[in-house]
Amino acid sequence: MRYGMAVDTNKCVGCSDCVVACQTENNVPLGYARDWIVETVDGTYPNLFLELRSERCNHCDNTPCVRVCPTGASFIGDGGIIKVKPNKCIGCAACIESCPYDARYMHPNGYVDKCTFCDHRLAEGLDTACVSVCPTKCLYFGDVDDPNSEISILLANNKHKTLIPEAGTKPQLFYIV
Ligand code: SF4
Ligand code: SF4
Repeated sequence: MRYGMAVDTNKCVGCSDCVVACQTENNVPLGYARDWIVETVDGTYPNLFLELRSERCNHCDNTPCVRVCPTGASFIGDGGIIKVKPNKCIGCAACIESCPYDARYMHPNGYVDKCTFCDHRLAEGLDTACVSVCPTKCLYFGDVDDPNSEISILLANNKHKTLIPEAGTKPQLFYIV
């Protein structure tokens, strides 16, 4: 079992429903975010192409954030989900510095917080909060190790990319382009 997520950038309209759902579900303090929307424009006028992406922690296979953590607060959980134990975190911010994706933030209560793929919801058989509210159904979550899962079939049949692959972190968030 290896959890991953695919984002169909052709279907994302940038509404931020996923961001609001995450903030509500995970009690993310005002002014902080576990997921966010990025807009990029490619090409030259008049042939411009707008890409909208719902971004979050990539739950990487090769994790500098876990390696640099001096206390073991950052760890690799079930299904490859990268998590933080707040009670073991000393707020040194080494993991924040090490992440090429700026996917972590310092919670005002002094520990680092980030996307957990809503594993508390997964345990109840629910979708992640972001997946459950996306009005265009552009977010796909599942087992990328299982060739018959919806996400694996989607990735096998569509051109996709990861972000900053040159960082060598082996992200498990895939963007269909
Ligand atoms: Fe760690 Fe950043 Fe990769 Fe998430 S995106 S697993 S925080 S290196
Ligand atoms: Fe580990 Fe917390 Fe330091 Fe991050 S801020 S490296 S989770 S102790």
